[in-house]
Amino acid sequence: MTLVLCLFIALFLFCFSLGLVFLVYTWILWTSSLRSPADGAADKGGEKGLSTAELERLGDGGGAAAGQECAVCLDDIEAGQASRVLPGCRHAFHRACADRWLTTHPDCPVCRAHLDPPPMPPPPIAPPSVPVEVVVCR
Ligand SMILES: [Zn+2]
Ligand SMILES: [Zn+2]
Repeated sequence: MTLVLCLFIALFLFCFSLGLVFLVYTWILWTSSLRSPADGAADKGGEKGLSTAELERLGDGGGAAAGQECAVCLDDIEAGQASRVLPGCRHAFHRACADRWLTTHPDCPVCRAHLDPPPMPPPPIAPPSVPVEVVVCR
């Protein structure tokens, strides 16, 4: 009789631990699926807009914006004012107006052309390290 009871308890413990492992596994899956969209929203440098480094690489259009109307604040862009001319569509804005938009949107506020900032310059190729062999002459 005790043997049957022992077997029953062993079987019960086995099933219980299996169920526990399954519960922990589903809990991990659930929390990771909950967390991933929040992580994507917190990532400001991804698809949401341009990073500060990318904005810097857009440049100011070399003064080509002077005399044009900024489509964000509808004011004229005066010569000497900090400005931005978007690559591709050549739409011009005050630098502050453009940057405020571009940090949250990766496209032109007027024509919605997607901005492709110039690629990062390739990192300088480090010369291969030459193993120094020390020969001791006797
Ligand atoms: Zn403006
Ligand atoms: Zn545009």
